[in-house]
Amino acid sequence: MFDNSYARLPNACYRDVMPTPVPQPELVVFNWPLAERLGIFREAQPADDDLADVFSGNRIPADAQPLAMAYAGHQFGHFVPALGDGRAILLGEVISRCMRRYDLQLKGAGPTPFSRRGDGRYALGPALREYLVSEAMHALGIPTTRALSLTLTGEPVRRHIQHPGAVLCRLAESHLRVGTFQYFAARNDLRTLQALVDYSIARLCPEIAFSDAPLLNFIRHVQTRQASLVAHWMGIGFIHGVMNTDNTSLSGETLDYGPCAFMDTFDPDTVFSSIDTIGRYSWHQQPVAAQWNLARWVEALLPLFDGNEQQRISQANVLIAEFSSTFTHNWHRQLAGKLGIADYHHGDEKLAQELLDLMAASEADFTDTFRSLADIAENAACSALPDELFANNGAWQHWRTRWLARLGQEVLPLPVIAERMRAVNPAIIPRNHVVESVIAAAEQDLNFMPFYQALKDLRHPWDAEAERRFDFSSVSAAGRDYRTFCGT
Ligand code: AMP
Ligand code: MG
Repeated sequence: MFDNSYARLPNACYRDVMPTPVPQPELVVFNWPLAERLGIFREAQPADDDLADVFSGNRIPADAQPLAMAYAGHQFGHFVPALGDGRAILLGEVISRCMRRYDLQLKGAGPTPFSRRGDGRYALGPALREYLVSEAMHALGIPTTRALSLTLTGEPVRRHIQHPGAVLCRLAESHLRVGTFQYFAARNDLRTLQALVDYSIARLCPEIAFSDAPLLNFIRHVQTRQASLVAHWMGIGFIHGVMNTDNTSLSGETLDYGPCAFMDTFDPDTVFSSIDTIGRYSWHQQPVAAQWNLARWVEALLPLFDGNEQQRISQANVLIAEFSSTFTHNWHRQLAGKLGIADYHHGDEKLAQELLDLMAASEADFTDTFRSLADIAENAACSALPDELFANNGAWQHWRTRWLARLGQEVLPLPVIAERMRAVNPAIIPRNHVVESVIAAAEQDLNFMPFYQALKDLRHPWDAEAERRFDFSSVSAAGRDYRTFCGT
């Protein structure tokens, strides 16, 4: 089932480590459609107990080579030269039916040489949050690590209080991150740094290996993926919460669902994480943070550039600056889609910004506002939600008239535009109060019914019916004071 290309990298890239067995593995959920897509089980479908044994780390598949990856990272701007997988163990890589390679990692499978004083375990609440939100992100069409399984361990995890313990099996195109490269740059180990670059190119963008300037093209490739990712996040009101360089994935997947949350009321300065007291990773700072992280990555790669020091630095600066225009392009495309505009041009930027300003001034719900616009596009007379959402009704009416006039210049008919808008403006997102109630039922009573229901509904984010079935509506007043914590 596994191949382990990461284990063929120089030894300093990882430490061999076995998961620590758990007393009572019990499967909570297994992502069968994902397993099917990967073709993990080519023969008979295993029983739940066998799955629980394997995906809790109690039984290691014969061809797995469990390891913890080494990485460093800038955490809230401060460099930590040795972080590494302290509570995650890479079992190996599976090769899917269409020959793509994916990491399978057990999160919460016990201590590793990188655990420092941590226990290497994962509490049920944050594990459920990661499962639910990452699968919701996938359904929303946003690149993300996926959740393959969640298993109870039968062993409590002590944080402030005791919680049930869980192991999450996470799937990623790769777990390579900016911090992986920083680890070797900080040690001046250029041989391993080069090996990592070659490995990453072969794994993430093999065509680039044959280009004239592989390193520069690789950097552009990663920057483009990051720019697209962050624009996607912002387009659905997602706030990652802990955009440290150790959580910045080279594959452009959303990585690490610690203190993440979705914004209800629109406020560009929104942060949820209790430790982000200066708003470093607020909604609108996310592109700035991503560019900063990529600058640290390019800095780490600098010794591998051609030319003298001056030439290397000026080339690096050009590359880093390119992120701004790539992001802006992606963000404009997001906004255009959300507003039903196919061919976004200069004046549209102002139109979009005015709507965002109106939403902020009126404390309008981000998701509901955009979702409702499709109804108006379809039926201009419709007095849908936004009329109530906007405090300054005159300003809203004025904006709405100009926007409808703009849609009138589009080639497509309004009903088609409305359908396209509904396909990018979700009806349901993992609202914070839903995630919290799912976690509370599971942690307090081991009742997973709300989790299963929410998971099912979140797989259909464009379906307004689901919104009515399960309470995915906004709760703006409580939403604003919502706080998240770096879940361990
Ligand atoms: P994170 O906040 O998840 O990005 O983790 C930052 C660093 O802390 C990584 O090196 C993690 O592996 C490590 N870490 C987080 N939680 C634990 C834990 N419970 N036990 C050991 N290491 C941990
Ligand atoms: Mg992390």
